[in-house]
Amino acid sequence: MSKQRIETKCVQGGYTPGNGEPRQIPIIQSTTFKYNTSEDMGKLFDLEAEGYFYTRLQNPTNDMVAAKICGLEGGTAAMLTSSGQAASFFSVFNVASCGDHVVASSTLYGGTYNLFAVTMKRMGIDFTFVSPDCTPEELEAAFKPNTKAVFGESIANPALVVLDFEKFANAAHAHGVPFIVDNTFPTPIFCRPFEWGADIVTHSTTKYMDGHGSGVGGCIVDSGNFDWMKYKDKFPGLCTPDDSYHGITYAEKFGNAGAFITKATAQLMRDFGSIQAPQNAYYLNLGLESLHVRMKRHCENAMAVAKYLEANPKVAWVNYPGLEGNKYYELAKKYMPEGTCGVISFGVEGGRAAAEKMMKSLKLAAIETHVADARTCCLHPANATHRQMNDEELLAAGVGPDLVRYSCGLENADDLIEDLDQAIAQI
Ligand SMILES: *Cc1c(COP(=O)(O)O)cnc(C)c1O
Repeated sequence: MSKQRIETKCVQGGYTPGNGEPRQIPIIQSTTFKYNTSEDMGKLFDLEAEGYFYTRLQNPTNDMVAAKICGLEGGTAAMLTSSGQAASFFSVFNVASCGDHVVASSTLYGGTYNLFAVTMKRMGIDFTFVSPDCTPEELEAAFKPNTKAVFGESIANPALVVLDFEKFANAAHAHGVPFIVDNTFPTPIFCRPFEWGADIVTHSTTKYMDGHGSGVGGCIVDSGNFDWMKYKDKFPGLCTPDDSYHGITYAEKFGNAGAFITKATAQLMRDFGSIQAPQNAYYLNLGLESLHVRMKRHCENAMAVAKYLEANPKVAWVNYPGLEGNKYYELAKKYMPEGTCGVISFGVEGGRAAAEKMMKSLKLAAIETHVADARTCCLHPANATHRQMNDEELLAAGVGPDLVRYSCGLENADDLIEDLDQAIAQI
């Protein structure tokens, strides 16, 4: 059969039942797995054979769902994590440790920003945040001899900045380090970062992939393109023997296609235990089955709402990368020509206070710390997800104090617009 299209991979990827086997993926609700001999199990512990022994490291249900996402992104290996935060942490900590440095875009999801700027800094990993709109020279200046990775978000939450993938990939590769991209917002339906030079992709599957607000989760996918041994002095964790795993050298034993995910599983999942529950992986898979249908509708609704807001005189500004004239419209056309996401940000005349009034008057859109759900929701980040930032940091992150984030669900767009219209009229 010819290479499957992405819609087919959404529905059927990751699991092909044999004769008489369950049509839907089985939930392997078991912490442990049985073996006939100690030798059989020993081979698993030596990473000599593939298999399962304890769900803290790997579980068959999770692996089926990870394989589906791997196929959607066009990667060579993938793993699920308990959350998007765990995916972001593992993706960086797998290549950087105490004394190392990472270059990251300044417009990151608030949780990721805090993880990097506060918690991982406390672990001795230093981050330099650069504006995603920086010149190649400014980006170049952010690198240090101990830089181990470059990290960005394909569409920043909530700033809605579209990342210039080629600019960041070129800089990362010129310095012999991997380019890691959080692809949560466009999902692989609209954007496949590996096609533009990304080496590792992460997801908060909590968002569109699940899509129904039912399970927190994350995923890491490896493109298999990064040549670790070529830069073996930079990546001792991948390119020298792992004493905690019987002296295995991941990059030698598993090659470029498998080293990153095997190491992240064998070391980080083993030690941090941020596994996704198999039951949640099952829900995630249900979401993935309709991802291609839903993403289109989220995007159509967002476009209709963005156009309505743009025409409303009480709306001061609208930010949606799908809108012609948006600062990132051209980058969006280049990197995600079929759509961006269902999230819009905007500000009403009257700033912070007017935004609060408007939000109180909404009847259909619910106030939630969430996006990318089937049900429309909205948030005032300066009062919620980003409240640990001061005004300067807020502006650097592209999140002004008046910004309202509005995530278009799958309802009828006319109903969303009527709801916004009556709420904005209250100002
Ligand atoms: C929500 C989100 C995260 C964090 O994911 P959790 O699943 O909530 O841990 C990371 N990146 C982006 C872009 C997000 O929107």
